[in-house]
Amino acid sequence: MDYEVVIGLEIHVELATKSKIFCGCTTEFGGEVNTHCCPVCTSMPGTLPVMNEKAVEFAVKAGLAMNCEIAEFSKMDRKNYFYPDLPKAYQISQFDLPICKGGYVDIDINGKMKRIGITRIHIEEDAGKLIHDPHGKGSLVDYNRCGVPLIEIVSEPDMSSPEEARKYFEKVRSILQYTGVSDCRMQEGSIRADVNLSLRPAGSTKLGTRTEMKNLNSFRSVFNAAESEIKRQSGILRQGGRVGQETRRWDDDAGKSFPMRNKEEAHDYRYFPEPDLVPIILTKERIDAYRESLPELPWKRFARYTEEMGIPGYDAGIITASVKTSDFFEEAVKYGADAKTAANWIMGDLMRLMNDAGTEDIPFGGKMLAELADLIGQGRISNNIAKTVLSEMFATGGTPSFIVKEKGLEVVSDRDELARIVDKVISHNKKSVEDYMGGKEKAMGFLMGQVMRETGGKANPTMVKAMLADGLKKAMEP
Ligand code: ADP
Ligand code: MG
Ligand code: ZN
Repeated sequence: MDYEVVIGLEIHVELATKSKIFCGCTTEFGGEVNTHCCPVCTSMPGTLPVMNEKAVEFAVKAGLAMNCEIAEFSKMDRKNYFYPDLPKAYQISQFDLPICKGGYVDIDINGKMKRIGITRIHIEEDAGKLIHDPHGKGSLVDYNRCGVPLIEIVSEPDMSSPEEARKYFEKVRSILQYTGVSDCRMQEGSIRADVNLSLRPAGSTKLGTRTEMKNLNSFRSVFNAAESEIKRQSGILRQGGRVGQETRRWDDDAGKSFPMRNKEEAHDYRYFPEPDLVPIILTKERIDAYRESLPELPWKRFARYTEEMGIPGYDAGIITASVKTSDFFEEAVKYGADAKTAANWIMGDLMRLMNDAGTEDIPFGGKMLAELADLIGQGRISNNIAKTVLSEMFATGGTPSFIVKEKGLEVVSDRDELARIVDKVISHNKKSVEDYMGGKEKAMGFLMGQVMRETGGKANPTMVKAMLADGLKKAMEP
């Protein structure tokens, strides 16, 4: 029997507020343990939470950018459970009246658009971090992250392959970065996804039993976890077995998942309305104001790049995927770089440098790329030398003109100097000269290469070509 894959994602995102959701403590990542805390976020008896307005604004903006309906009335609820990473023994979250619902995100699958439904987006607080003693002597807890505002974005079970799940996760992250809702730093766990996955007989409309893999914090692990779970579940089904509804822990290093808890052990959270917070009431005017303050979103930029700037769709897709590269591209063009030239530099050398350095940040602005392109345009450096300059810019943050000057990379156009080198190359390569005279055009290329080698690639190629032709003509004369 053939099976069909069904995937739904729950994505947790830390919001980019400066302070926590119910107190004034900083949300800054890291810091010495238990230094970003106060009586409110450590849940001392008698303390009261106060809602951070900015957290509500970010949640609404995320909802608007993902085409959700925004609730004019929503409220916070208590989700009760005991675990030492949240010392009040409940998490303040939203239950039946989330702030956003009924949206969608479009992803591109092999050139075809696929729409993934968003069930809801709700606001909640993050928990602290437990640090377990590897020698089994106990656990310590760091409350710095406790009370950092989160949104949880719950998708419909609309994805049907690991590739779609990864694409959707990438798209959501990109939208959150564009809107400034979150920095989405994956290594710091500020965005993480739970993958829910089930199989069903092809063509069936009834959902199969799902498992859930928690807290995946890279695109690769979402893809790998989904792929491995498909293998595991189809193995069980093909042998006539049944998949148990359970939560599993994905181990990236082992490349497999392990059971954590099953349906019987599932929590009953005994949700009830949070009595210490007033409901969140948003006027239409305020929602409209948030809508108007949204920046240009990736699909709008994509349309502008392809329709107005004449950039191929493939390039525009790559550049708009990240707000950082897109902003960089915009700045390069603003400072005079040709759009397609800038796109080529970004997709080629720059992305390779970023990949090698394992970073998404470009250590200089687009203006610097425009300056580099200008140096090439003026014929002051060759394309090849420009690659060297770009690596140097990436490593040191120096400006192109400074690097060219300091490293002496400017094109050699000095006629006397070039003449000396051309003469030398002709007299040292008798064999090639004879080949050329015998009609072997290729020999010219070799001689060109020799001149370039002598000048470290800096000779003005047009001049060298003309001078070589001249020199060879002279050599042919009796
Ligand atoms: P819970 O809150 O208990 O995790 P939800 O019903 O809210 O459960 O679903 C969570 C996620 O699981 C959603 O993204 C949803 O689309 C997805 N999901 C629900 N049922 C299935 C299923 N049978 N197969 C795959 N995904 C599912
Ligand atoms: Mg869940
Ligand atoms: Zn605090």
